[in-house]
Amino acid sequence: MALGRRELPFEVPRYSLTGDILSFQRCPLQYRYYNGTSLPPSRPVQLWTGEFIHGVLEEAYRHWQQHRPPFPWPCTLTPWPPQPLPSQRAPNDIGVIGDAVEARLAADGKRPRNTKARDIAYQRATEAINLLGPDLFPLITDAERRISGTRPMPQLPQQHPARGDRYELTGVVDVISHVSMTANPQNRLVRTLQTRCPGLNPPFEIIIDYKAERRPPINDPRRRHHEWQVQTYAWLLTRLPQSTPVGAAMIVYVNELVPSQEDFQTLQQEVRNGTTDVIPSRGSADYYAITRWQPGAAIPSLSNDYRIERAIWIVAVSQASLTNAVAQIDTVVAQIETSACNEHNSGNILSNWAATGLDRDCVACDFKHFCPNPAPRSSSGSRRLTAPPAPG
Ligand code: SF4
Repeated sequence: MALGRRELPFEVPRYSLTGDILSFQRCPLQYRYYNGTSLPPSRPVQLWTGEFIHGVLEEAYRHWQQHRPPFPWPCTLTPWPPQPLPSQRAPNDIGVIGDAVEARLAADGKRPRNTKARDIAYQRATEAINLLGPDLFPLITDAERRISGTRPMPQLPQQHPARGDRYELTGVVDVISHVSMTANPQNRLVRTLQTRCPGLNPPFEIIIDYKAERRPPINDPRRRHHEWQVQTYAWLLTRLPQSTPVGAAMIVYVNELVPSQEDFQTLQQEVRNGTTDVIPSRGSADYYAITRWQPGAAIPSLSNDYRIERAIWIVAVSQASLTNAVAQIDTVVAQIETSACNEHNSGNILSNWAATGLDRDCVACDFKHFCPNPAPRSSSGSRRLTAPPAPG
């Protein structure tokens, strides 16, 4: 007789800050379908771009750490699929670093959508390394650190028994820097930190998070979501024994360094409407380049200073902001647990997971053909499912 294995007496549900929390905030229904089926997206171009940029920046840092080649680094692209080039390339050639990252992603089934998407990803990685690397790399003390911690399971509605009394939060911090203001008076990133967070008392750490996207406008919910994500990283780091206080987080929006046609058109609208927080001064070359540009024309060159200013968002960290951020994450966890429980009880997915993706999410969504509420939506239009109310 086969003996059954005894189940664990308790369960600690695990939530990743990017794979679960940010995905659910983007669109609960899409999150449910991807997670419930364990199927990878059929067109994982977003996954490829994000992972490619992260991979190249990490490998570039590791190369710099060992060999310290001076900037700027060259970028000689191989044709797709990668083939050996006849001429010798330097080991710090971003094309060489990119080949290794691409091969790793290809082994995982992740490929760029087309050569245009691949080319612009290389251009962005190259600009990130050459514009930010000279100031960023010397500050890095740790790259790609995995962190986790547990929190009490938030209160769920009475009819939903919780799966455990705690849940685990996990994340991967791209970069952690130990910052000494006095040792780095000329460093552009340190000066930016001093300007945006004048009350910081060293020594402290800063968290750096790369995002393969453009800077969200001030009215975009992703801004808050990104802020809560990095604040929660900071909270997790402060839970480690003998941790150094986290003074701030720096989010790097890599697309700002090389905007696409669509990015530039959106930037132009935001500058005209005043819906972005980084607007060039009126009368500057950058201002005229943005406001006079015609869609379809070549993207004008913007100054390095302006592109870097747009790419970097400094988020101040305080005890109050940490407390607020983890409370927001608790709310999302409660919503996911409640939706999962309601689906389990009713056997119905569509009525328990809200379809709230925005245009940019729906356009690449594998489920838009049977989604009850895909974007774009008319104001009077299609049925909109609402997220279950947050408990408590
Ligand atoms: S089509 Fe849009 S709203 Fe529908 S599941 Fe996909 S992302 Fe969500």
